[in-house]
Amino acid sequence: MKILVTGGAGFIGSAVIRNILENTTDSVVNLDKLTYAGNLESLLLVSDYPKYAFEQVDICDRAELDRVFAEHKPDAVMHLAAESHVDRSIDGPAAFIETNIVGTYTLLEATRQYWSGLDEQQKLSFRFHHISTDEVYGDLEGTTDLFTETTSYEPSSPYSASKASSDHLVRAWLRTYGLPTIITNCSNNYGPYHFPEKLIPLVILNALEGKPLPIYGKGDQIRDWLYVEDHARALYKVVSEGVIGETYNIGGHNEKQNIEVVQTICEILNELVPQQTDYKEQITFVTDRPGHDLRYAIDAGKIERELGWKPTETFATGLRKTVDWYLANNNWCKRVQDGSYQRERLGA
Ligand code: NAD
Repeated sequence: MKILVTGGAGFIGSAVIRNILENTTDSVVNLDKLTYAGNLESLLLVSDYPKYAFEQVDICDRAELDRVFAEHKPDAVMHLAAESHVDRSIDGPAAFIETNIVGTYTLLEATRQYWSGLDEQQKLSFRFHHISTDEVYGDLEGTTDLFTETTSYEPSSPYSASKASSDHLVRAWLRTYGLPTIITNCSNNYGPYHFPEKLIPLVILNALEGKPLPIYGKGDQIRDWLYVEDHARALYKVVSEGVIGETYNIGGHNEKQNIEVVQTICEILNELVPQQTDYKEQITFVTDRPGHDLRYAIDAGKIERELGWKPTETFATGLRKTVDWYLANNNWCKRVQDGSYQRERLGA
C-alpha cells in the first residue's frame, strides 16, 4: 500500500510512520501543516527512506489536497491531523473547529473525489481510516463501566466536541456516499516524542528542572493509558485488516489516577536521577480544568477478538521506556519548545 498519513509529524502520526516504514513494505506520504505540535525531527530515523515523502499542506486547503492525491495516488488515508490539546481548546476553540471539523470535511471531500475516479478494483480496496479519541464519549460515572463502540457520544470540551463532529462527518460520508471509512477511538497515549504540554512529558521535564509538578484539582481523574507504539501497531492492523464501516476502540487496560501517574514518574526519577529531595515534594495542586472529565476507560475487546491486537507494554514498562527516552533526548525537547510555549498553565 501507499498510505497518505495526515498529521504525521505529530506525536502519534510520527509513531505510525516509523512503524510502517521500519516494519512493512508499504510506503508513506506524510501530509502535515507543521503547527507548533508538528516536528519533522520526530521522523529523522526514517525520513531518508525512499518509501517516504513529505508534503507541508493544511488539510483545510482543498486545492493542495487535490494536488497531493493526484500526484501520489494513495491506496489508503490514515487521518490523524488535528488540534489535540484540551487546554488549548479552552483558550482558543477556533483552531479546533477549523482543523478538526472543517479540515476533516475538506479532506473527506478531496478523498471522495479521488476515490470516485478510481477503477472498481481500486475502489474496493481503498480505505479512509479516521483516528479519533475516547473523549468523544464524555465522562464515565461508575468505577467499573467501560466505553464500548456503541456508547453514545457526550463530549465535554471544545476539543472532544470537535472530534465527535469529525467522527459524525466520517460516518455520514460512509452512509451517504459509500466512502469506505473505518474509525478508531483510542484512550490517552504516552511515550517518546510527546510534545511537553501533555501531563507525562511535562512532569518529567519540570521535575528535572526543579519546577513545580502541577496536578489539576485533586489529581483523582482516571485515564486509561496506552503506549504510543502499541497504538501505532493497532492502527496499522486496522488500516490493513479492519472491516469497512466498523469502529474499533483501542485502549491499554491501564486505568490510573493522574496523581498516581505523577507519583510513579517521581519514583522512577528518584531511582534514575537521584537528587537530595524526593521529586514528589515538587507536586503542587492547582485549580482544576473547567469541565474536566473524571473517568475514561476503554473496552478494547472488539479489536482484540476480531483483529488479534493486544498492547505489549504494561504501564510500568511503557513509563520506564518513556522516562528513559526523555532523559536521553533533551535536545529534541529543547528544540520543540523553541517557540513561544514554555510549559506555562493553559486552559485555566
Ligand atoms: P499532535 O498534536 O501531537 O499532532 C497533530 C499533528 O497534526 C501535528 O503534526 C500538526 O502539525 C498536524 N496538524 C494540525 N493541524 C493541521 C492541519 N490543519 N493540516 C495538516 N496538519 C495539521 O496530536 P497526536 O497526539 O499525535 O494525535 C493525533 C490524532 O490522534 C489526533 O486526531 C487526536 O485527536 C487523536 N488521538 C490522540 C490521543 C492522544 O492521547 N494523544 C488519543 C486518542 C486519539
